[in-house]
Amino acid sequence: MKNFGIDIWSNQNFLIENGEIKLNYKSMPSLYKITTEIRSQGVRGPIVLRFPHLIKKQIRTLYNYFEKAIKENSYQGGFQAVFPLKVNQYPAVINAITKQGQKYNYGLEAGSKAELVLAMTQIRDNAPIIVNGFKDEEMITLAFIAAHCGHDITVTIEGVNELETIIDVAAKSSLKVPKIGIRVRLHSSGSGIWAKSGGMDAKFGLTATEILEAVRLLKEVELLENLSMIHFHIGSQMTDIAPLKKALREAGNIYAELRMMGATSLQNINIGGGLAVEYNQHLKANSRNYSIDEFSSSVIFLLGEIMDAKGVKHPNIFTESGRFVVASHAVLIAPVLELFSQDYQEQLLDFKRSNPPLIEELRELNRLLNNTNCIEYLHDALDHIESLFTLFDLGYIDLQDRSNAEILVHNIIKKALYLKSSNPTNELEILQSKLQERYLINASIFQSLPDYWGLGQHFPVMPLHHLNTTPLRAASLWDITCDSDGEIEFDPKRPLYLHDINLDEEEYFLGFFNVGAYQETLGMQHNLFTHPNEFTIEIDEMGYTVTNTVESKNILEVLEDLGYDADEILNKLKKDLKRSVFITQKEKSDTLSQLELFLKQNGYLRTTK
Ligand SMILES: *Cc1c(COP(=O)(O)O)cnc(C)c1O
Repeated sequence: MKNFGIDIWSNQNFLIENGEIKLNYKSMPSLYKITTEIRSQGVRGPIVLRFPHLIKKQIRTLYNYFEKAIKENSYQGGFQAVFPLKVNQYPAVINAITKQGQKYNYGLEAGSKAELVLAMTQIRDNAPIIVNGFKDEEMITLAFIAAHCGHDITVTIEGVNELETIIDVAAKSSLKVPKIGIRVRLHSSGSGIWAKSGGMDAKFGLTATEILEAVRLLKEVELLENLSMIHFHIGSQMTDIAPLKKALREAGNIYAELRMMGATSLQNINIGGGLAVEYNQHLKANSRNYSIDEFSSSVIFLLGEIMDAKGVKHPNIFTESGRFVVASHAVLIAPVLELFSQDYQEQLLDFKRSNPPLIEELRELNRLLNNTNCIEYLHDALDHIESLFTLFDLGYIDLQDRSNAEILVHNIIKKALYLKSSNPTNELEILQSKLQERYLINASIFQSLPDYWGLGQHFPVMPLHHLNTTPLRAASLWDITCDSDGEIEFDPKRPLYLHDINLDEEEYFLGFFNVGAYQETLGMQHNLFTHPNEFTIEIDEMGYTVTNTVESKNILEVLEDLGYDADEILNKLKKDLKRSVFITQKEKSDTLSQLELFLKQNGYLRTTK
């Protein structure tokens, strides 16, 4: 696993060259260089790097594959995508999406009032807005206002009561009525750990009976010409394509039936999101059983077939894939602060001119260990160390010999573990769990990788440099929260090996990849660690430019967010300090300015790297 599974998860967005991981784009900058350059400005703690070219790539991929499938199947409808805001609402992300999506008329999807306001203000040209989720009269009125202002907006109803509210608002105001969509409650459901959005027991959507009721109501108040969309969403990170096909058949037939019942303004089928992202770093486990090519072809083919069978005009297809569009664009970079057991480093070996024969033998074993001999050599080494301990106890070897012996044996075990990592013996597994190294990272898992904490979702992780040497340390990662759940444990099923680094001599950074979807606003301020400093990086043929920097909140701002008065806090601290005794006036004023500086920085660790 020397390449950290980059060929599995990175979708060719990254490559390894000269021992560093680089962006596989234009001037191919190295993440290590970008990181050290940013840190040379005094930035400390974790950072989030955003790469808008990866958002562009995903939007283009989505449209290209659907357009290809439309052509190949002579499909009569069009393709249109919207970005679901809940996946990432940060301004730099939405800005990249609306900019890169402009030529496709890529729209936005909102699931709350705040998101709807965002959509109404961030959308470009006349790209579509779709409103999902539970709505009250206010939210529905907001959608009317959007329609009135000229937005192409569709309100998807999640229940008949929402339709009644729409009818009420239409009756009592002269605002323009938005387009109406119906979310159907499917009897088929999704796959994967996020699959609760679809199925008979789903939280959302109208049953067959309710759909008929809704159409009757719309007819009655002469709003049937506003009914434009059938919508479903079977859940995020679909691992299997089979449930989607079932859902398409179900929703497709509902669409066709409604058209045949006279809902002739119905033109669109919205298939929701759910396109999966590859998070796995290990060959054996694959997150999904389909490609984007198969996905788009299946959707187009199936819907075409259903419509042809019923003699109904092909609908336009909408998707709401979010994870697929933004997951890859963001990388979290966390500096390693400490290795907890640095004691067995090879560079600490200190041989004498003449060493005890068993030590010389260990040296040979260490030097000659390879894939074929490693189990045998490991056993020899374990045998030798027992003898060496006895010799030490009896006074025949000294402390330096013993230290050399321990380092050599540790190294032999680490090498054997690495060589047999794909197929470890029982004995090796036991050794492995005893030999883990704990890497303390300057980041919070609760803030930056909440889906790991909440759902056990694995994110690809790797060091940014040293990639031309074999990592030998079985690693578990500890974050700096005071919470024992802030740990990514070593998992023998998907082992992470990292390098032995002397942090007094050099820095070591870990990159966490595919963190651009959901993690940022789901992240929580546990222990009051905030969203990290973020940087948007635009790459061209010559190099790269940091086009946007957002500093993380400082300590006073975090406390203010919780409802404390920042001035009061600052004044109280200053007052206490002013009252206390100092030997010199200068020391007092220096301490005061130091205090003020501390409070205006973020809470991540700074003094250690
Ligand atoms: C969350 C959500 C999406 C986005 O799903 P992804 O898995 O991120 O593609 C799309 N539509 C609806 C209705 C959602 O709730």
